[in-house]
Amino acid sequence: MSMEQMQKLKKKLPEWLETSRLRTGQGDVAAYIPELAKASRDTLGIHIADSQGQTVSAGDCGLPFTMQSISKVFTLILALMDHGEEAVFYNVGKEPTGDDFNSMIKLELVEPGIPFNPLINAGAITVSSLIAGDSPEEKSERILQFFRKLAGNDRLDYNMDVYHSELETGDLNRSLAYFLKQNGVLKDPVEDVLSVYFRHCSIEVDCSDLSRMALVLAFDGVDPQSGEKLIPRRYIQIAKTFMVTCGMYNASGEFAIDVGLPAKSGVSGGIMALVPGQYGIGVVGPSLNSKGNSIAGVHLLERLSKEFDWSLF
Ligand code: GLN
Repeated sequence: MSMEQMQKLKKKLPEWLETSRLRTGQGDVAAYIPELAKASRDTLGIHIADSQGQTVSAGDCGLPFTMQSISKVFTLILALMDHGEEAVFYNVGKEPTGDDFNSMIKLELVEPGIPFNPLINAGAITVSSLIAGDSPEEKSERILQFFRKLAGNDRLDYNMDVYHSELETGDLNRSLAYFLKQNGVLKDPVEDVLSVYFRHCSIEVDCSDLSRMALVLAFDGVDPQSGEKLIPRRYIQIAKTFMVTCGMYNASGEFAIDVGLPAKSGVSGGIMALVPGQYGIGVVGPSLNSKGNSIAGVHLLERLSKEFDWSLF
């Protein structure tokens, strides 16, 4: 981080955050997973990290929240590392849908029944089934260990209350999975696949964990602190492209215009964003807009992008 940018961030970030926090009343927390409905609508936090270990944060940045759809970026990467590009994209497509993340409308792509992309639920459920491992437990354990490594935090774990809450109420995902199974996209039993999927959605992080994970993406798969190569560059390229085209659900076009950064959101109100070669960013703001993205989080990222001219476009 340049000294100048750092100083400006340190000085201004709390004020910008409070301005964005005024928006939280215009949205609402996700309630379809009952445990997520307990989140506070006014929460807003952000953490920004650079490669030299400098950080800036503001608001409720220490608050734990579950990754939800943000986890899909990293399960995709792990599946690619396990099986390679060809095998993964035999089962899942590369195109945005323009529909909601849990939509059943466009399940079909080139072959009948192949999900459009790995970031919608149908695609991410398919990706969960592709993670190497002999049992759902082994697959889940590999995902957790991978996430811990990326976050540089051995204490990352599941929020089992959220996991059980979704397991009990996730019948829409269950029906997507049965459809995929019927079409031969899923090979394993539906409940086995869903237990892996719901588990990785329920991995709990805070904004600083998310910023660390984003930093690995921002530095082409290299952990900027240790210098260790964690992810092949090609898979980073694929992940970042999906983040730009599908990361903010069917508001990805608007987000690309207004913010212009690779980002991924989740229904818990988290957003992971990155400035390539510069910063990893973690945001939490559980009040969501009609597209399912953190209303204040998007507002804050837009402000930051404009202040520092971060847009890639
Ligand atoms: N676990 C959530 C679900 O499957 C993830 C969705 C999301 O964050 N958009 O519905």
